[in-house]
Amino acid sequence: MSAPTIGVLALQGDVREHRAVLEAQGARTSAVRRPEELDGLDGLVLPGGESTTIAKLAHRWGLLEPLRAAVRGGLPAYGSCAGMILLADRLLDAPADQQTIGGLDVTVRRNAFGRQVDSFESQVEVEGLAGGPVHAVFIRAPWVEEAADTVQVLGRVSGGPADGRIVAVRQGSVVATSFHPELTGDTRMHRFFVELVRDRSGGH
Ligand code: GLN
Repeated sequence: MSAPTIGVLALQGDVREHRAVLEAQGARTSAVRRPEELDGLDGLVLPGGESTTIAKLAHRWGLLEPLRAAVRGGLPAYGSCAGMILLADRLLDAPADQQTIGGLDVTVRRNAFGRQVDSFESQVEVEGLAGGPVHAVFIRAPWVEEAADTVQVLGRVSGGPADGRIVAVRQGSVVATSFHPELTGDTRMHRFFVELVRDRSGGH
């Protein structure tokens, strides 16, 4: 397949960082701000940022339903941090009216590492990524509190107060991490997603 086209939801958050890493992995990228910009994509990335803001803007701009339909229809999606929150079917510690795109049969707790802990770094072993643990940067990050049996746990925190917490998951073609690989120079998570996109789009 020639370069897959991966859209990055560009309402708020670290859009530029994701696009740069995806392009370095051989993908073409485009910004998604309107429903028609979902047409023709091979994959979709939901960046880190502020999930309440992203969800509100998506709703206001008529993007929420098209995003749900795209993910439900099998468009591969990867969310980091706020992106994980957007891909969760259920939320904890979120405003009652916070909407999500969904697609992952998980319950995600927002700002799970505690209010005092603005950011936290750790080494996380991620299944499917060769070459040792990922240096994971968590910024007011969520974790996966509960995951259905159909969800594959790819990574957990090891050590410290959050020991054992789930911070990387995959369900079919939907992948999410609590941490921000787009900020660390470690390109393996994005390469993994670009490969998944290439596999799913079957060589067109
Ligand atoms: N705390 C943010 C939220 O709830 C996520 C933080 C991030 O993406 N770095 O959306």
